Amino acid sequence: MHEYVIGWLGELTMAKRTVLVTGAARGIGKGIADAFLRAGHRVMIADLGTSPDWNYDLGSDHALKETLDDLSPLGEVDSVDVDVTQVTSCQRAIQKTLDTFGQIDVLVNNAGIVDSGPIESFSEATWDRIFAVNVKGIFLMSKTALPQLKASSDAAIVSTASIAGKRGSANLAAYCASKFAAVGLTQSMAQEFAPFGIRVNAICPGMVGTAMWLDHLMANQGAVAFDNRMADMIPLGRPQTAADMGQAAVYLATAPNVTGISLNVAGGFEMN
Ligand code: NAD
Repeated sequence: MHEYVIGWLGELTMAKRTVLVTGAARGIGKGIADAFLRAGHRVMIADLGTSPDWNYDLGSDHALKETLDDLSPLGEVDSVDVDVTQVTSCQRAIQKTLDTFGQIDVLVNNAGIVDSGPIESFSEATWDRIFAVNVKGIFLMSKTALPQLKASSDAAIVSTASIAGKRGSANLAAYCASKFAAVGLTQSMAQEFAPFGIRVNAICPGMVGTAMWLDHLMANQGAVAFDNRMADMIPLGRPQTAADMGQAAVYLATAPNVTGISLNVAGGFEMN
């Protein structure tokens, strides 16, 4: 069934497109890159080469290389280091994508980080870093890619927001606020870029068992405990997968008359 849907979505696309996915060394970004390759597109996977200090390990150079090796049998794919909080790094990643594939049609702003804790003890530096990656990163990458997207005849931006961008949660203020901002940025860019034919949408994943959950939000509890807890909480009875997000990203990048939406992919856990 999954293969059929991806194949069907791929057929909606007029031509092979070039897709740049940030935060693609692992997790949801890897699933999104995988789905675009299976739909017949060229993909540049981008992630941090070296991991800055954070409360859990972020994507390493090794993870990026391993993902490139895993995805290479699926089609035309290459990798580049990027720190989405630094404009010069964004420019280098865009330039490498152009040098490698000659164009950029789809930008997937997926890089993101989480930290949690009560506001009373939450550090200003952690707040700033979450906003730098989850919000400013989308702004910088979108701004830098805009000339290429304007030049494309079939351009789209898809950002990974979250169901945390639809409803606030105790002890997740910075993360939730950053994801609400990602939804607002998506709507604003959708209106602003519509005259250029660029569609701008977001995915709001529910709960995917990546490092965010397994190394931070439910650290040391393991994948089985995560799966069981999510099976109890989520109406459709299972956590989401990176492949679920890939399918949604290909749909949003392909649908010709859909813009400005933030699509829940959450098994019914969030419906607004
Ligand atoms: P992850 O930690 O496995 O992946 C995030 C990737 O982003 C990492 O590889 C990391 O190195 C990269 N990254 C971090 N800072 C970066 C920077 N400055 N520049 C470039 N890359 C950077 O976690 P994930 O769950 O796959 O997260 C992907 C996206 O999905 C994030 O935006 C996250 O907020 C969002 N999300 C995840 C869930 C979930 O349940 N896992 C739910 C909702 C939203």
